[in-house]
Amino acid sequence: MYDAIVIGAGVSGLMCANILSRIGAHVLVLEKEPRTGGMLQGFSRGGTAFDTGLHYVGGLGPGESLEWVFRYHNLTVLTWKRLDFSEEVITGGKSYLIPCGYDSFAEGMAEYFPHQRENLKCFTAELKNISGGIRNLEKDRLPLYGRSAAGFIEETISDKTLRKVLTSMGPRMEMRLESLPLYEYAMITAPFIESAWRLNAPSHTITDTLARQVVENGGEIKCGIAVDGIMQHEVHAKDQTFKAEEIISSIPPANLMPMVNQLRNIYKKRIVSLPQTEGMFTVYLTLSPGAIQYVNHSISIDNKVFIHFNVPDNPDNWATKMELMMPVQDWPQARSDDYSSWKDDLAREAVAIAQTRLPGLSSAVKEIYTSSPLTWQRYTGSASSFGIRKDYRSVLTTVLSPRTPLPHLWLIGQSIGLHGMLGVSMTVFNTVSQIYGLETIRKELSL
Ligand SMILES: Cc1cc2nc3c(=O)[nH]c(=O)nc-3n(C[C@H](O)[C@H](O)[C@H](O)COP(=O)(O)OP(=O)(O)OC[C@H]3O[C@@H](n4cnc5c(N)ncnc54)[C@H](O)[C@@H]3O)c2cc1C
Repeated sequence: MYDAIVIGAGVSGLMCANILSRIGAHVLVLEKEPRTGGMLQGFSRGGTAFDTGLHYVGGLGPGESLEWVFRYHNLTVLTWKRLDFSEEVITGGKSYLIPCGYDSFAEGMAEYFPHQRENLKCFTAELKNISGGIRNLEKDRLPLYGRSAAGFIEETISDKTLRKVLTSMGPRMEMRLESLPLYEYAMITAPFIESAWRLNAPSHTITDTLARQVVENGGEIKCGIAVDGIMQHEVHAKDQTFKAEEIISSIPPANLMPMVNQLRNIYKKRIVSLPQTEGMFTVYLTLSPGAIQYVNHSISIDNKVFIHFNVPDNPDNWATKMELMMPVQDWPQARSDDYSSWKDDLAREAVAIAQTRLPGLSSAVKEIYTSSPLTWQRYTGSASSFGIRKDYRSVLTTVLSPRTPLPHLWLIGQSIGLHGMLGVSMTVFNTVSQIYGLETIRKELSL
């Protein structure tokens, strides 16, 4: 009998197992894939490693939003490269470099939009206010989801172009303005205003580092085990049964529901029918050295294509690989001829759009690979990029409680609360506090 079984070895599952093993719980992690990592697992083609679900993080400077979380998990010791700007946003043919640091951000944006100086100060102050107090784990954040991001931006910023710039900063969240809660917008945007960072190592270094600590602390991780049934205190996978006091699931809630007979159908139907965020199409390029210079920030073009550079390993700073990401709403539902031509067309479109900012890109391309929402579905169980779509108009249905109606079955991960490194780590703190008590976790995190 384990104290806890965590289902899924993505970043949330491993962060959760790391905390539990550090507070002395005997923990088992079960992962369906042959390796840990989930959305961060990455892949290699022709000897080149590519990242999947991590391109940059915000708030890793001393005292900033993510730094205390990563310090706890021993992730600040990895090699992080500070970026020059939060982002470069290109919209309407004009490029805007978004500075890091709250004051520099407000000042820098006011240089592009001098008549918005006071509005920018209000915008920045409110983001800082919402994202501040992140270490206050007892705070009930549910009511904060009830404000509209679009409403706030419209009330605060009167210039339409500036509004567009402020809603085009990277594919950090689904920019569906009719539903996006201000809390999600603020919590995802504010850390990048503090500072932006690229990992100078494959993204699975994060999950490898977490997994190593879990094992060092006496936890167990079993890969290649797809959970297919859950009862109170029991997890089933084919012909194996594992028992635990607490079961903590990081898999997409819609996938979990059919596995739990003891949950009422009305609850399951509600969870399965929740709308999911958009999918992501990614083009992975290897480039001939000597053609495209490395750019030390990410670039967003018309909210359509997002360019992410990898830190180069040559002294002349030539970019040798990069990723182009395109959010997509629809995609072929099966791997067919249509699917291949859809991917080829989108890849060509992505390169053509990126080339408007990086002249010479097409002729610099050596190899091109793509991944689609179907790829995500295959490797993580969900085609959606950021999990369940939270909607400020229906907070009580779209923001799930970590507690399920089945006693001792809990939820963590990007569909619960927020996505991204900071978002999922907060879901873990919240769930673990509810299981083991706030004081235990506050003490563990030295809060
Ligand atoms: C294209 C893209 C780019 C992104 N870029 C960034 C970025 O730059 N910065 C950032 O902070 N965030 C980024 N994100 C978001 C971030 O990657 C995710 O929010 C985070 O990795 C989600 O972690 P998770 O643990 O909730 O889910 P997952 O990583 O999906 O973990 C769930 C795990 O459960 C396993 N599983 C599923 N079903 C079963 C089963 N039946 N039995 C056992 N195991 C199972 C899966 O295989 C998986 O390993 C990006 C996301 C996308 C899609």
